[in-house]
Amino acid sequence: MTDVSTPITQDLVTIPRKLPEGPLNLVGLTREALREALVAAGTPEKQAKMRTGQLWQWIYQKGVRIFDEMTNLSKEYRVLLAENFVVAIPEVVSKQVSVDGTRKYLVRIAGGHEVETVYIPETDRGTLCISSQVGCTLTCSFCHTGTQKLVRNLTAGEIIGQVMLARDDLGEWPEPGRNPVNTARLLSNIVLMGMGEPLYNFENVRDAMKIAMDPEGIQLSRRRITLSTSGVVPEIARTATEIGCLLAVSFHGTTDEVRDKLVPINKRWNLEALLDALRDYPKVSNSERITFEYVMLKGVNDTDEDAHRLVELIKGIPAKVNLIPFNPWPGAPYERSSNNRINAFAEIVYQAGYASPVRKPRGEDIFAACGQLKSATERSRKSRKEIAAEAGIG
Ligand code: SAH
Ligand code: SF4
Repeated sequence: MTDVSTPITQDLVTIPRKLPEGPLNLVGLTREALREALVAAGTPEKQAKMRTGQLWQWIYQKGVRIFDEMTNLSKEYRVLLAENFVVAIPEVVSKQVSVDGTRKYLVRIAGGHEVETVYIPETDRGTLCISSQVGCTLTCSFCHTGTQKLVRNLTAGEIIGQVMLARDDLGEWPEPGRNPVNTARLLSNIVLMGMGEPLYNFENVRDAMKIAMDPEGIQLSRRRITLSTSGVVPEIARTATEIGCLLAVSFHGTTDEVRDKLVPINKRWNLEALLDALRDYPKVSNSERITFEYVMLKGVNDTDEDAHRLVELIKGIPAKVNLIPFNPWPGAPYERSSNNRINAFAEIVYQAGYASPVRKPRGEDIFAACGQLKSATERSRKSRKEIAAEAGIG
């Protein structure tokens, strides 16, 4: 008999005949993938749909991860599941709690990589800011994550796993059947605003958000999920049709010259291309407002002229403008605009007919504010010189 571990060599690619296999993790599988996995493990076709629903409820509505505790399944079936599968979420390495109640989790994923997840409590809601990649391949010059070299996409299980680990920590596994819209929840909203560019990991983000929105899953309304993109134009329309959540765009500049430096993806898809894609967006997602995120950088993008140009550019797009006071990090080549400047900018935008809230920095004492995330254990880091050169300000 041939040794199954002998690799087959095909031209330049070496494909191991048998991949190292562990039990399959059920977290993050789409309903269809879960159904197929159950059938492959010996579940009769006729029962597979029902079993999928049952498992889905145990995993996402009750937070149960041990098959033996899934009491509406027969003993034999629980054994079959335990032989073939696991229900696993990423591990929390550390948790920090800010004086304002913000919680930051350092989360370890397969391969020893780390990402950060932040929970932000407010009076009428609680928002979880989740990561979609380890680091980010993009290099926005004001963002700490953008200085991190190491990158891999998170799996759908690692993305929805962040919601599950936060629920573990908050002690919040609602009873099935409770109306998620009418029930005050500690974790009521999700923003994809942590580490990474979600639209460069589209399929995994989509599959995870489908679980978040599923009535038998995490049960959050699609209006309580906001995906933030730096402007990956070709994927924007898909966000509306395949996910259907709300969209936020990291705008930050009102001329291509300035935006090229702040958000370098602008060199690939400039303001005109981005605005065209955004003009089409609400048509496919029931005319919901797009959030324009605008980081306030002293002397860079914060003049009255910028504010006037901004409202001209977004004319005709149902929008709100979220002004984000810059959050500093060691070596950052920018400063935060003064409060007076931010307020004057906000007033111009408001007078033009757009809501213009100023985002309150949260969790500053634990370094959990927007754009400050970066795994603490990361070893290689771009130098100040590299950051400045990429920003064109060296
Ligand atoms: N990659 C996505 C989502 C993550 S960033 C994106 O770029 O949209 C979430 C938001 O924080 C973005 O609007 C980003 O531009 C902003 N941000 C990044 N660094 C920041 C900083 N240092 N201070 C304030 N906001 C920052
Ligand atoms: Fe990446 Fe967003 Fe940071 Fe830009 S702002 S480097 S896209 S995480």
